[in-house]
Amino acid sequence: MNNLLIKNVDAVLKDRIDQSVDVLIKDGKIAEIGKLNPENCEIIDGSNMLLFPGFVDIHIHGGGNSDFMDATPTAFENTVKSHLMHGTTTIVPTAMSASFEDICGFLSAYKTFKKISEYADMVPGLHLEGPYFSGANAKSSGAQPKNILRFPDIKEISKILKFADGSIIRWDAAPELPGSAMFAKIMKDNGILCAVGHSDATASEAENGFKNGFSHITHFLNATSAHRKREQKVFAGILEATYLNDDITIELIGDGCHIAKEDFLLALKIKGAEKISVITDAMRLSATNIKQGKLGSILNGTDCIVDDGVAKLTDMSSFAGSICTMDRALKVLCNDFSISPCIASVMMSLSPSKLLKIQDKKGTISVGKDADLVLTDKSFNIKNVILAGVPQIK
Ligand SMILES: [Zn+2]
Repeated sequence: MNNLLIKNVDAVLKDRIDQSVDVLIKDGKIAEIGKLNPENCEIIDGSNMLLFPGFVDIHIHGGGNSDFMDATPTAFENTVKSHLMHGTTTIVPTAMSASFEDICGFLSAYKTFKKISEYADMVPGLHLEGPYFSGANAKSSGAQPKNILRFPDIKEISKILKFADGSIIRWDAAPELPGSAMFAKIMKDNGILCAVGHSDATASEAENGFKNGFSHITHFLNATSAHRKREQKVFAGILEATYLNDDITIELIGDGCHIAKEDFLLALKIKGAEKISVITDAMRLSATNIKQGKLGSILNGTDCIVDDGVAKLTDMSSFAGSICTMDRALKVLCNDFSISPCIASVMMSLSPSKLLKIQDKKGTISVGKDADLVLTDKSFNIKNVILAGVPQIK
């Protein structure tokens, strides 16, 4: 592998931007940062450009007209490749709520993808979004297929974990459901990040969930409960319980449609960037110009349309995932929400790397870490993506 030198670039670090530095890459790793003049290097001129650590997306369903629930190795590779061109260098594929058989199909496709794809190293493991969520009458089910939602079932969970053979690294459930304490215990025993998702929990139900081991909130502010009145009594929800507990991490959809600017900035003010991961929650129509398609599997998914920059159910009753890519999220954060590139970078690379426990290799521009990097102009348009030291745009 040739050595690579990115010259005169403004490197976005956790707490500052290092102006006009050179970044030397050797054997796929960041070897040196400073004013450098090495010999025998491929050179990329980074003048007037920003260098970010590669983006880490821990909640994503599809892209490039494929969905991970299509359950083929090709769908995995196609999605991963299409988001790579938008700066995502680490991806955690997400399965929608599905039948046991369909979840196993997703897991099987991943196993084959891991064996045969040259992009396999971009994927450290898998995410199950459900199926143990609040059911048909719940406000929080969103675009999850309602007929398939069910209570946590210890036998099913054990069978899925056995079949997955260590590949599941996060799993979401609703903490108010019977069986959720046992679910959280199994997640803990297996070292799996246990997240609250699509939940109508009251604050006290959420707090109980936190005690049981739920430690992260899936697309916080979307399909998560907040204060409301029920039978002449007021209840707080997941929103308040999460703001009151400093240990709980959250993820926020970065498309600029799912979360209002003020809500995003309030979450940032209360939780701080190192407790927030920006996600795309992207569906298959992300990274395409196609306006119609299925949410979930191509075989039995739900019809969706793209309207006003977001995927919606065809009756417009709910958003149906986003068509966001991480470069769009970067523009939303920095241009529309006036968040600094350093803070945005923490939420898009470092915080998710910490959640995945891969921060020794990913998440910042540091000597010794993997050379997964994103080069943008000063308006945050992608100019190149470097994966393990290899520029993807020649
Ligand atoms: Zn999702």
